[in-house]
Amino acid sequence: MKYVFGPVSSKRLGQSLGVDLLPPKSCTWNCMYCQLGKTRKFVTDRQEFFPREDILEEIRESLKVNDRLDWITFVGSGETLLYKGIGWLITEVKKLTTIPVAVITNGSLLYLPEVREELFQADAVLPSLNAGSEVLYELIDRPASGLTFLQHKEGLKAFRREYKGRLWIEVMLLGGINDTDEALNDLVHVLEEIKPDMVHLVLPTRPAPEQEIRLPSDERLEKAIAILSQAAMVVHPLKGNMDLRNTHDMLEAITGIVSRHPVQQSELHKAIADCFPEEPKKTDDLMVEFFASGRFNRVEHHGEPYWVIKDSVG
Ligand code: SF4
Repeated sequence: MKYVFGPVSSKRLGQSLGVDLLPPKSCTWNCMYCQLGKTRKFVTDRQEFFPREDILEEIRESLKVNDRLDWITFVGSGETLLYKGIGWLITEVKKLTTIPVAVITNGSLLYLPEVREELFQADAVLPSLNAGSEVLYELIDRPASGLTFLQHKEGLKAFRREYKGRLWIEVMLLGGINDTDEALNDLVHVLEEIKPDMVHLVLPTRPAPEQEIRLPSDERLEKAIAILSQAAMVVHPLKGNMDLRNTHDMLEAITGIVSRHPVQQSELHKAIADCFPEEPKKTDDLMVEFFASGRFNRVEHHGEPYWVIKDSVG
């Protein structure tokens, strides 16, 4: 599978089949916490990077073997809405299945009416909003030139007015950066203008190759939940874990997921162990075998080992 990966399990989306529409890494931003490493060359022009029919065919094949999906989620190696034709794909997927469709995006292109329109058939859209001020937006998201905080905010507001599905704004809370009272108060004011259905607070639990990012303290996390709750219900997602039980080629499935984001070694071990509950030694043997494939590196993050894909390191 070239475009489809998972399913990945998370509190927010349950069992979710990922669809990646982009060549790595294609993004309008260069976030300081990005798990994919530095954006070496910004992409801001929308394109049909891969033939839409090929992507749809993979989704069709995946639906035949995955019968326990809660969501089909467009997400991947950069900014999802750079794919021109995502609206066509969403419409076609909805002809294939009643499983709801979600789109994870940084939201930077929502200021464009044609981009907003492509999302109207999605059941949920999860754009990012990490800052309530121009200064923090520039510091955290580090956008391509020409993309401004005002544009981002107005794009989100316009989308909210037009879109009838679920709008769940994702806020990445970074220790010492946007977890201060001032930053959170700025954020809540913008969220009050946007009026999302929910706010999903996420944490930098995965390693960022470019620089070390701190987790917020428990006290700051609680404060963030209290302040942001003034604008919308705040969900604090638990860490997801993989489900490999329906995969035919486990190494390929793991490669597909790890190439989209680093995976905690313990999460990987559990996902493999769930496939062979009667054979604990087999899990250890497979971990060794998969690592020996040469596709992965091991990195430490907050004292935990993670697997990352070799090409994304550095
Ligand atoms: S975190 Fe997402 S939006 Fe930010 S640079 Fe990475 S891929 Fe782009």
